[in-house]
Amino acid sequence: MTAEPNTSGAAPTDSAAPTPVELTDEQWREKLTPEEYRVLREAGTEAPFVGEYTDTTTVGVYRCRACDAELFRSEQKFESHCGWPSFFSPLAAERIIEREDRSMGMRRVEVLCAACGSHLGHVFEGEGYDTPTDLRYCINSISLTLDEA
Ligand SMILES: [Zn+2]
Repeated sequence: MTAEPNTSGAAPTDSAAPTPVELTDEQWREKLTPEEYRVLREAGTEAPFVGEYTDTTTVGVYRCRACDAELFRSEQKFESHCGWPSFFSPLAAERIIEREDRSMGMRRVEVLCAACGSHLGHVFEGEGYDTPTDLRYCINSISLTLDEA
């Protein structure tokens, strides 16, 4: 029996913003599978075209697989054909953190869960997709859990 962090007993707030989740490395390793840990906690990348949600069109809300915070809606998902689930915007701006990532010899913008700091993917702009924002939040399937509506 491992104690859950206090994500359930917290009083609801007006904004319905998720309660921040802070676990130690050891606790994350217990909670996540090795592959989830590699992507979410070590900023790994899932292989393209293999993720369970790449082509999913099911209506629902995508939650952070690490902490269950609601991050994206199916209405914001679009077919980018890039091999990863792609969204043109998050459920709400404050649900995610965007930060510059200069790894791998290029400048990219990393996308993190605002509630637990886990790595979700990257966001790219100005690629010419026919979406309301022309942003592509390229998110690892393994970073998400789909809650069907
Ligand atoms: Zn999270």
